[in-house]
Amino acid sequence: MGETLGLYLHIPFCRSKCDYCDFYSLAGQDGRMDEYQKALLRHIGESAPLAKKSVVNSIYIGGGTPSWYGEKRLTELLSAVKKKFNVAKGAEVTLEVNPDSVTEKMLRHLRRMGVNRISMGMQSACDAELQAVHRPHTFQQVVDGVAAVREARIRNLNLDLIYGLPGQTEESWQDSVEKALELKPEHLSCYGLTVEPGTPLAARVERGERLPDDDTQANLYLWTVERLAQAGYQQYEISNFAKTGFQSRHNLKYWMGRPYMGLGAAAHSDFGGCRYAFVRDLEQYIRGVLEGGPLLSESEQIPPRERCSEYLMLRLRTVHGIEEWEYRREYYMNFDPLAAKLSEYEQNGWAVRAGRRWHFTPEGFLLSNRLIGELLELQEAATLSNTLEKIRGGELPGNMLKKNGG
Ligand code: SF4
Repeated sequence: MGETLGLYLHIPFCRSKCDYCDFYSLAGQDGRMDEYQKALLRHIGESAPLAKKSVVNSIYIGGGTPSWYGEKRLTELLSAVKKKFNVAKGAEVTLEVNPDSVTEKMLRHLRRMGVNRISMGMQSACDAELQAVHRPHTFQQVVDGVAAVREARIRNLNLDLIYGLPGQTEESWQDSVEKALELKPEHLSCYGLTVEPGTPLAARVERGERLPDDDTQANLYLWTVERLAQAGYQQYEISNFAKTGFQSRHNLKYWMGRPYMGLGAAAHSDFGGCRYAFVRDLEQYIRGVLEGGPLLSESEQIPPRERCSEYLMLRLRTVHGIEEWEYRREYYMNFDPLAAKLSEYEQNGWAVRAGRRWHFTPEGFLLSNRLIGELLELQEAATLSNTLEKIRGGELPGNMLKKNGG
């Protein structure tokens, strides 16, 4: 059996644009869906031979709002993927949906096409909070959407929630979490609101609107981790919680540094030792695929031994964490400086050691940007001293540092 691969398809269309959204998604461009579909189908056909040695064990259709793209187009995409790629029996097939654009009939049909996991944007149970960021649905539509998922006999449901929304209080957030729990999802993703530059929300903040501050967000987060643990959801990543056996296979690929191929405008890939992304421009993407214009917006070869910083950045987002010998074996690096720092974090209650593995606690996750930054600095210093030792030992020519600007 070949290497396993995650396949991601990006659908950049939405009914309307939410104020905080920084994803590549477009409202008011539905007239271009057919042309985009043509390009994406061709792209699937042309990319599949590159993955002929791989077995696709997760497919993720994300966006944008894939459910807004319509049953017929989604069916065509799934048929094309099944026909062109080696898709494993039992592959996880996730469809992102918004509550206002799903019906039981659509989901039943897509289940027959292989969709076995739904990720629904709920965000809040409070309609005023939903309206405050221009979400296109109400909480009642979430309730109806979840009923449609269950009636369609799809047994793996994720709900996305956001804490820190404008006007949100501790009580209203807790009420949203409780209402989400009543819907009995197998998986919950709880993200803190971030104000992305260039979004309508950023403009509102610039005009003086106040949002729940960092301390409030931290309290909401810590309360959530505890409440979800009580309700039987295991935290397996900073923002992700699942019942046993329902961790997202696709998302784990990103965090564990496994290969994935993304197709569609703005889709990213880590495949064949190369990290690359397609243009974040609908028209350029369509022309690129159908007429042979430039398609890539970035591309970088990353040899396996240079992935040690990704190892820290991605694995430390998860409760699987990092392990000394894994690190030494894969990257030929000294773990001692990291171990000393992690022991300091342990004393502060930010990290724990389980056997040889280290991972952050919820308090550590809250500080993860800073803590990972500190570990990366130590890693960089260790890389430099590794290189100097090799030069002293005659393994590298002395002028190599000069060539690289050192
Ligand atoms: S529905 Fe999702 S992708 Fe579309 S604008 Fe809102 S947050 Fe962005």
